[in-house]
Amino acid sequence: MHPTTGQQLTRCPWLVELPAQKWGCSIYHDRPEDCRHYPVDIPQMVKDQCEMLELKDLSDQVKAQKRLDHLMTESRPPRG
Ligand code: SF4
Repeated sequence: MHPTTGQQLTRCPWLVELPAQKWGCSIYHDRPEDCRHYPVDIPQMVKDQCEMLELKDLSDQVKAQKRLDHLMTESRPPRG
């Protein structure tokens, strides 16, 4: 929700478009805890239709979760 107008936002106001049709967070180093911890697990990525998921992640979700936890070590504590 926009803090001054009260209107419902359709996307995060800190999401910015980058060259080559990519997107980035303009407050990445100061982003909120929820953002630092996302995604928590593979089922959440599946539910959100995350574009980072690969076919091999779906066939071996245990291995994919270990890889995700490794990638997220500097952002959040391990799942569980
Ligand atoms: S990481 Fe969080 S603050 Fe940054 S663009 Fe995504 S939702 Fe917004």
